[in-house]
Amino acid sequence: MKKLTGKCLCGEVAYEIEGELGPIVNCHCSMCRRWHGAAFRTRCTVKSKNFKWVKGKKILSEYQSSEFVIQTFCSICGSSLICMYKDKSDYIGLPIGGLDQDPGNRPVANIFVGSKAAWYEITDDLPQYDEEPPENFGL
Ligand SMILES: [Zn+2]
Ligand SMILES: [Zn+2]
Repeated sequence: MKKLTGKCLCGEVAYEIEGELGPIVNCHCSMCRRWHGAAFRTRCTVKSKNFKWVKGKKILSEYQSSEFVIQTFCSICGSSLICMYKDKSDYIGLPIGGLDQDPGNRPVANIFVGSKAAWYEITDDLPQYDEEPPENFGL
């Protein structure tokens, strides 16, 4: 089975994913922008059962950013890691930037474009959604 690995900037937190990633999207919402200090967060959904921490789970910090979303980050270097959904515990959200390998798949859409940064122009041809992608998107 396909296996991917990833880690934070300092390397004290590391994880492993088995199986396929869900669709990759660029999320332009204001929360992702702040969390990453960037124009958008490139993320995908992963089945919780396919994800495991292999190092540093104890030094993870958590931040509850909204009613159902808990974001995690490395306590040492501050790298943004996964988010967990209180209402969907079967899945986690993973930022692609932390992966050690090329997962093979590519971003398929820009989401929350309605709240994107004024200073960033989207120049790709991917579909754009003002908010969340449609229900059947496979996230
Ligand atoms: Zn770190
Ligand atoms: Zn977002």
